[in-house]
Amino acid sequence: MEESLHVENIKNEFFANISHEFKTPLNIILASLQVINHNIFNKNIKFSKDFNLKKYTNSIKQNSYRLLRLANNLIDITKIDSGYYEIQPKNCNIVSIIEDITISVAQYMKDKGIDLIFDTSFEEIIISCDPDKIERIMLNLLSNAVKYTKSPGIINVFIDKTEDTVIISVKDTGIGIPKENISIIFERFIQVDDTLTRKCEGSGIGLSLVQSLVQMHSGKIAVYSTKDIGYEFTFTLPLQTINNSDIIYNINEDSHSKLDKCNIEFSDIYSLY
Ligand code: ADP
Repeated sequence: MEESLHVENIKNEFFANISHEFKTPLNIILASLQVINHNIFNKNIKFSKDFNLKKYTNSIKQNSYRLLRLANNLIDITKIDSGYYEIQPKNCNIVSIIEDITISVAQYMKDKGIDLIFDTSFEEIIISCDPDKIERIMLNLLSNAVKYTKSPGIINVFIDKTEDTVIISVKDTGIGIPKENISIIFERFIQVDDTLTRKCEGSGIGLSLVQSLVQMHSGKIAVYSTKDIGYEFTFTLPLQTINNSDIIYNINEDSHSKLDKCNIEFSDIYSLY
């Protein structure tokens, strides 16, 4: 037992270290790319009109983001496994957090020919949650929904509440998941289509991370799907607040960092080219 715990710790530490090592060069690549793009914009870099430079700089950016997402996800699941991952709950309006993050990916949906519908039964529901992690959950679910939904398709985001819970659902009209696979999709590194010829990119970490984040909020997740009709993912969070603590209405986040977050979480979807 002791020996296997020791091996597990070494493995976790190795994953954490190697993932951090991936992030440093990736950030340098992205910063250099920013300088190049800035100089293209200022016409300091000359290139032939026939050469589609934008296509290649976008490719570098998107694939760097994909690696960054993978590194971030690996760091997070390693932290969760070793008990070092913490959420920072605040009293906030969950409706506006969900609405804002949903609206920020609307352009991606439009580009892919997918209709995004946001609906809520309440304008304001104050609960204790970590806005950053709620955004992470939503971006993962929305990116999966886009990934597995063909145009013309519809993605619905709906918020409701009961006496003691908030219910958030993300529903798509995509390929769905065969019933026999529903129980395994939250497992780590699992992909329903694991063939070499599969149509969508991914690592199978997203949903396992989402499940852990929901559970850290004392919430629950469930998935309903019928093959060929689509998929509905519903998570519930307890309707409770932190006593004697202010309500945070303005989540401090500039639009650039939100855009970056969206680009990173949506990087498995090839739409930038
Ligand atoms: P990945 O990075 O592969 O998307 P996830 O953990 O997010 O990893 O998802 C695990 C698997 O669950 C996916 O590979 C896919 O087979 C299935 N899946 C997730 N979301 C959907 C969806 N909206 N429609 C169909 N299949 C889905």
